[in-house]
Amino acid sequence: MNILLLGSGGREHALAWKMVQSSRCTKLFIAPGNAGTAQCGINVSINSNDFNAISTFCINEKIDLLVVGPEEPLVKGIYDFFQQPDTWKGMVIGPSAAAAQLEGSKAFSKKFMQRHHIPTAAYAEFDESNFELGKKYIQRHSLPIVLKADGLAAGKGVVICNTVEEAQQVFEEMIVHKQFGEASAKVVIEQFLSGVEVSVFVITDGSEYKIIGHAKDYKRIGEGDTGLNTGGMGCVSPVPFVTEEFMQKVEQHIIQPTIKGIKEESLTYKGFIFFGLINVNDEPFVIEYNCRMGDPETEVVMPRLKNDIVELFEAMYYSRLQNITIKTDERACCTVVAVSGGYPGDYKKGKPIYFGERYNNKETIIFHAGTQQKGDEVITNGGRVLAITSFGNTISEAVEKSKKVLETIQFDGMYYRKDIGYEFE
Ligand code: ATP
Repeated sequence: MNILLLGSGGREHALAWKMVQSSRCTKLFIAPGNAGTAQCGINVSINSNDFNAISTFCINEKIDLLVVGPEEPLVKGIYDFFQQPDTWKGMVIGPSAAAAQLEGSKAFSKKFMQRHHIPTAAYAEFDESNFELGKKYIQRHSLPIVLKADGLAAGKGVVICNTVEEAQQVFEEMIVHKQFGEASAKVVIEQFLSGVEVSVFVITDGSEYKIIGHAKDYKRIGEGDTGLNTGGMGCVSPVPFVTEEFMQKVEQHIIQPTIKGIKEESLTYKGFIFFGLINVNDEPFVIEYNCRMGDPETEVVMPRLKNDIVELFEAMYYSRLQNITIKTDERACCTVVAVSGGYPGDYKKGKPIYFGERYNNKETIIFHAGTQQKGDEVITNGGRVLAITSFGNTISEAVEKSKKVLETIQFDGMYYRKDIGYEFE
């Protein structure tokens, strides 16, 4: 089978690494990819939002399977695009635009959860037409209070406010001053939930589903979970508090009603669902849905997954998921992300990466995120540069291995958190 994977991050390197191991994979292309994905297949320089160019490429290269890494093409309707006449025909892994609203619109996902009685924080939504009412709502609300731009805002559209004044200011910035353009024309105001977050990953055809893994990520730039939010500085899996009992609650109260809701509302969904959850006194609540895999979560979920991922895609696509048993590596797995100096603020690109002597360790995988091949050199090309994944008997053993490998890697300004998984030591 010929496969095209869209995207260029650590998530895509992990997906490419997994797909190329499949006996079903003949040829793998990645658009646009990075220096790491080039070790798994052929990078092609096509923008993942250019659906016409993707269609032409898929026809010319006889692609059978299109796997969409990032959310933007999904929310923009790539699935639907390929249902139109005169476009390439094949398997597209991802939801339709209507179903991708679960990620693309927080107001849509909150209403969906309300309709299907899925545990989530209490909320209200406001726009320009009821702006004054929103201000009064904030005044009466308990603190902290969570404000969320309705649409996609590159992970920056959620603000947790500790005072009424701050919340009023953020609310005005979003709605009146259109801080995130159309994405903040509508704002969801939400109750603050206190607990530990965990992400659960599911593959579904909109009727059947399989849980393929779970992980806890570390969003803050600084050790001890301090400083600014990032795309993710590391990840661990499995998460010790995710017991069988907790997972049963997640399935019963969250996953099953979500899949049932998707089916009842006739939403076309053939892809991943990323459930962003929070554990509040041993009860799971939904913080957010994403309609694709997470980054850096994929860098631990794919290595732990023992199934052939391409077979899994086919089984899902042809509604045969019930025949599949998911098998997971029992060992602990972590990933530690190396970032460019200055990230998540301004940072420089184009720094040569020195990989040092070959590490003699079969339990570590170096996934590339923001990297680019330039002649013989690999250079930095983004904020998050590498994700070093390792296995171990315990989380701390896995983290130690990643850190050892990181000591052999260098680039100007390189930084990584040394305390990933610290609370599970
Ligand atoms: P991402 O970058 O993960 O896609 P996003 O911009 O889609 O994020 P959310 O995931 O909804 O936004 O929120 C971002 C973060 O804000 C969450 O991971 C969580 O830490 C925090 N958060 C969101 N909602 C709540 C809430 N109701 N109570 C407490 N914390 C919250």
